[in-house]
Amino acid sequence: MTGPASNNRLVVLAGPTAVGKGTVAAAVRERHHDVWISVSATTRAPRPGEIDGVHYHFVDDAEFDRLIAEGELLEWAVVHRAARYGTPRRPVEESLAAGRPSMLEIDLQGARQVRETMPEAIFVFLKPPSWDELVRRLVGRGTETEEERTRRLDTARAELAAESEFDVTIVNHEVHAAAAELVKLMESGIS
Ligand code: 5GP
Repeated sequence: MTGPASNNRLVVLAGPTAVGKGTVAAAVRERHHDVWISVSATTRAPRPGEIDGVHYHFVDDAEFDRLIAEGELLEWAVVHRAARYGTPRRPVEESLAAGRPSMLEIDLQGARQVRETMPEAIFVFLKPPSWDELVRRLVGRGTETEEERTRRLDTARAELAAESEFDVTIVNHEVHAAAAELVKLMESGIS
């Protein structure tokens, strides 16, 4: 809870790689302007079209080390054994204090850390309609090398098994429907 003026809650969205977390988050951003979505810091390089400060804060290893050392991250993790990703703490606290519906889109390791520090958040597992569909989406994205894809599928298999740790499961059949379900959770909690 964020105070007497609001029932808005923090939603933590996680799920296997390539399930479409980023696309669902983008749909929330596009249609639900009242919702605040955290911008993570990452040490990975920007993909074409990604904008610093919008999609991620792209930082180098030294800056990421500093963020950790100064306690500026709510959680962080090495994702796909490739790069570090973390959630800047202060913007989350400020958004919740302002009573805004707020969301993090992070990996499973990060979600577990947030559960320790903010157990009152709603933990949402975004699930693919099927394993085959997940593989299709991963291959379809076409932005990763073969080695990277194999690594991500390994991660995805382990991540699918974590569904039971979550408060709510949303099946990502259609992106705008999934986005609307998420926003409803942020605004009115679990009914
Ligand atoms: P991508 O590199 O494809 O944008 O994201 C890779 C993975 O990193 C996704 O599963 C995404 O959810 C996760 N991720 C993005 N930001 C964060 C963060 O701040 N913390 C954690 N733990 N994972 C994140």
